[in-house]
Amino acid sequence: MNHLNRSVSWIAAFIVIGIHFHEKGYGPVYWICLALHFLVYPHLVYWRARRAEHQLKAEIQNLLCDNVLFGMWAMALGFPLWICHTLISAGALNLAIYRGAKGVLQALLAVLGGAAFIYVIGAAGPLSLDTSPLVSTLCMSAMLFYLLLFARSMYGRTVLLSETRVKLRRSEQALQRQLEAVQALQLQLTDQANHDALTGLYNRRYLDDTLPRELDRCARAGSPISVLLIDLDHFKSINDTHGHAVGDEVLKRAAAILQQQLRASDICCRYGGEEFLMVLPGMDLDAALTRAEHCRQLMAHHAWDQELPSVIRVTLSVGVACAMDGDTTQDALIHRADMALYQAKAGGRNRVVLDTSGAD
Ligand code: GH3
Ligand code: MG
Ligand code: MG
Repeated sequence: MNHLNRSVSWIAAFIVIGIHFHEKGYGPVYWICLALHFLVYPHLVYWRARRAEHQLKAEIQNLLCDNVLFGMWAMALGFPLWICHTLISAGALNLAIYRGAKGVLQALLAVLGGAAFIYVIGAAGPLSLDTSPLVSTLCMSAMLFYLLLFARSMYGRTVLLSETRVKLRRSEQALQRQLEAVQALQLQLTDQANHDALTGLYNRRYLDDTLPRELDRCARAGSPISVLLIDLDHFKSINDTHGHAVGDEVLKRAAAILQQQLRASDICCRYGGEEFLMVLPGMDLDAALTRAEHCRQLMAHHAWDQELPSVIRVTLSVGVACAMDGDTTQDALIHRADMALYQAKAGGRNRVVLDTSGAD
């Protein structure tokens, strides 16, 4: 993860300790170990970490291993203060990044372990705390250099983190907008699924969902519920005479007229081609008759010629049925309204007929 920083630092440490060796006249075994540790080992462990399944875990193992080796050097060289300070501080810092205070403790234990190993195998050097002014200065410089490298890489990570946060916030906002669009679309779809496209009234599907609930509700409340089945008279001839487009326009206007008569609790749906069903919760047969008669008159006296010049008159027939007992099903109630409508048609159209079969 820090390959460049680590490689540069290892080379710097090799040079500083090498100068110390040269000054103190250390033999070839020390030089070979120094070269293996500081020039070869870092690349081997980097290679191992790159190939590892858990790279972070492997990297931390490498850092612990570094500290063991630093402890071994400290004991073997007789604890030259500046060299030990530089190596052990850098080793502890490396582990502190990943594991905080626990990492520092682990680093120190690893150093002690390495030192103890060298002591046990009898390779400990005589105590020699001093380093030359040159080596001491280089140690200080190397440490400073390492800290600067460290700070630079931390800075890079901080910048990356803040950029990532900004990106994350932006994508969160984009996601939020998409979510809102999907919710709006869902509402639109639900709306479309429940409404008739031509007239904007509720459709049959909505009625099938709602009417049983309304019947139950009124039954529980002990109140009546009425339905008006409304059919436009001779609508086919309007189509035939004025064309389908004018027929559509008449359907739309007729729907709007009916809708204007609704209370908040009423429901009007397009029941079929030119048939409408009005559900009037809480309304008894007399009140429903008044409403139906009102609708019939509005339609019959509507000034169609002002809106659709070719159309003079549109009338409707209504079958009215009312449920009082709570036992009536949707189908039974509509069937009764349909029977009444049939009678209205048979009786000459443009009229309202009450279903009396459920009035007892
Ligand atoms: P009645 O008085 O007996 O009800 O006669 P009617 O002509 O109204 O009844 P019929 O059932 O014979 O014809 C209904 C017509 O309504 C036939 C059909 O083409 C027309 N229709 C159904 N849906 C639409 C629509 O969405 N637009 C238009 N323009 N016409 C429609
Ligand atoms: Mg019809
Ligand atoms: Mg009709």
